Amino acid sequence: MNGVGETAVGTTAAAPLANVTGGPSVQLPTAFGFFTARAWTDEGTGVEHLSVTSPVRPESAPLVRLHSECLTGDVFASYRCDCGEQLEQALTLIAEHGGTVLYLRGQEGRGIGLANKIRAYALQEGGADTVEANEQLGLPVDGRDYSAAAAILHTMGLDHIRLLSNNPIKGSKLAAFGITVEEMVSSEVPSREQNRRYLQTKRDRMDHRLALLEDQPIHQS
Ligand SMILES: [Zn+2]
Repeated sequence: MNGVGETAVGTTAAAPLANVTGGPSVQLPTAFGFFTARAWTDEGTGVEHLSVTSPVRPESAPLVRLHSECLTGDVFASYRCDCGEQLEQALTLIAEHGGTVLYLRGQEGRGIGLANKIRAYALQEGGADTVEANEQLGLPVDGRDYSAAAAILHTMGLDHIRLLSNNPIKGSKLAAFGITVEEMVSSEVPSREQNRRYLQTKRDRMDHRLALLEDQPIHQS
């Protein structure tokens, strides 16, 4: 079991999208560059998401990062995972090349929530890997649902994208919602001593495309 299977995928018909509503587009100057931001509400769950966009160069499909909320990584710059550094890299790349970071809230710990993620960390300190820890808690290894993300992308006109991700499952789940992923663009950041086992598990048990680079400068396409 590698985390696939919560969503029935494989039919040619697009899976049902969430009902989302978008608010106004506002300016968002940041340390990474100038963006426009828009909040989105999933009317079914009440969860609010944020799109952060830089104008797209017309020559290629827009670069899109679906970033799952990770409070410890994104806000506190935790080295237990690579989320914070991936978010920084995505904002830097998208400021330069154009595209959208879609920040998906309610996806802590691959969908298990903040408190359960911290419980899983405690089990990992006892020897479990990130997959085993979720399983020991009786929780899905990857419970993330992309129906709201896909609905937001469709509403934004982002039907054909280049997906900034190391996770092929994310690409196939988006495809089930009628989003054409023209290319998977690596979002790998150098590993650290503190997150190497976590990243090895993602590579070996969750099919993430990771070379496990160590302390090398990051080069993007
Ligand atoms: Zn994280």
